[in-house]
Amino acid sequence: MSTYNVSISTTAQKKPKPSQDQVPFGTVFTDHMFMMDYEPEQGWHDPRIVPYAPITLDPAAMIFHYGQTVFEGLKAYRADDGRILLFRPEKNFQRLNQSSDRLSIPPVDEERVLDHLMKLLDIEKDWVPSTEGTSLYIRPFIISTEPNLAVGPSRTYTFMIILSPVGSYFAGGIHPVTIHVEEQFTRATKGGTGMAKTAGNYSSGYQAQANAKKEGNADVLWLDGVEKKYIEEVGSMNIFFKINGEIITPALTGSILKGITRMSIIELLKSWDMPVTERKISIEEVYRAFADGTIEEVFGTGTAAIISPVGELNWQGRKITINNREIGEISQRLYDTITGIQRGKLEDPFGWVVELNENIQSGSNLYSS
Ligand SMILES: *Cc1c(COP(=O)(O)O)cnc(C)c1O
Repeated sequence: MSTYNVSISTTAQKKPKPSQDQVPFGTVFTDHMFMMDYEPEQGWHDPRIVPYAPITLDPAAMIFHYGQTVFEGLKAYRADDGRILLFRPEKNFQRLNQSSDRLSIPPVDEERVLDHLMKLLDIEKDWVPSTEGTSLYIRPFIISTEPNLAVGPSRTYTFMIILSPVGSYFAGGIHPVTIHVEEQFTRATKGGTGMAKTAGNYSSGYQAQANAKKEGNADVLWLDGVEKKYIEEVGSMNIFFKINGEIITPALTGSILKGITRMSIIELLKSWDMPVTERKISIEEVYRAFADGTIEEVFGTGTAAIISPVGELNWQGRKITINNREIGEISQRLYDTITGIQRGKLEDPFGWVVELNENIQSGSNLYSS
């Protein structure tokens, strides 16, 4: 199936797979991983699939000091008939290159790395769980590896893909969460790295998230870094509002991550004749809509949860409740439709789903055996 060469060294030492209904998030990894290296003279080279194992880096490797790194996150889903399906994976590699561009990392060949991913998935296909809500999380990333303490872009890089089976994001289906609207800290500003999936954007939010969690919130909603007035996004989700019939999501102004779930929801709603307005929306507007009784739904969107309804917002010590803390009609319909398309249960009119290796498969789901 592969059109691009990749060297493969497999291990006979297979790890036990977690039970289908107790898959933790992000701590179990499959038996193999993908790697390739970059040097200015050779470009990206030596693509290889190797047994999953720790890697060795020089303590002076630039990743440890200046954080020059990017990552992606997507999932492989198991359809009822055993096929393995990916959701718009080409968009993830496109975005990886956009993030890399911002971080001065050389681009990868998008088609080639997608092909390498498919090869890796083919080797690891028994790791794709099949229970409702489970999937195989795919984490491609690039690190800067040159041992050099001088500030500046690394000369060398390593690109890797690791795979991790993950359970249902919300045990027992989706349920509305409480979100703290952050006033003290900011995530990103225009001209910064907010639109890139890069490490520093996340660790700089931990303090705010820890404070919010202490007070019973699931996550923080970030406001713009200049005026702390306009809504940006949640920790690793974009956000949508339905106010007085209008569906609104913050416009991509450079500090917000361009979510693939966000993009898909905008396209889906448009196909239902429910266009989304991409514009600035202030937190005051949301609170006014609550006072008016015109706020109908709020939900976060991202690969992890797909749709995460927001039941309560906390801003300046004022709590507002949305839709009686119940899942909204649009939230539920979007969740059912997107997860249905992703798992091959619903028709895919947009051609979003990419199937792994159409020829192999034979319902050989050995996952929990
Ligand atoms: C990954 C991410 C999202 C969601 O993007 P998807 O492509 O939909 O998974 C949103 N915001 C941030 C900050 C993210 O890192």
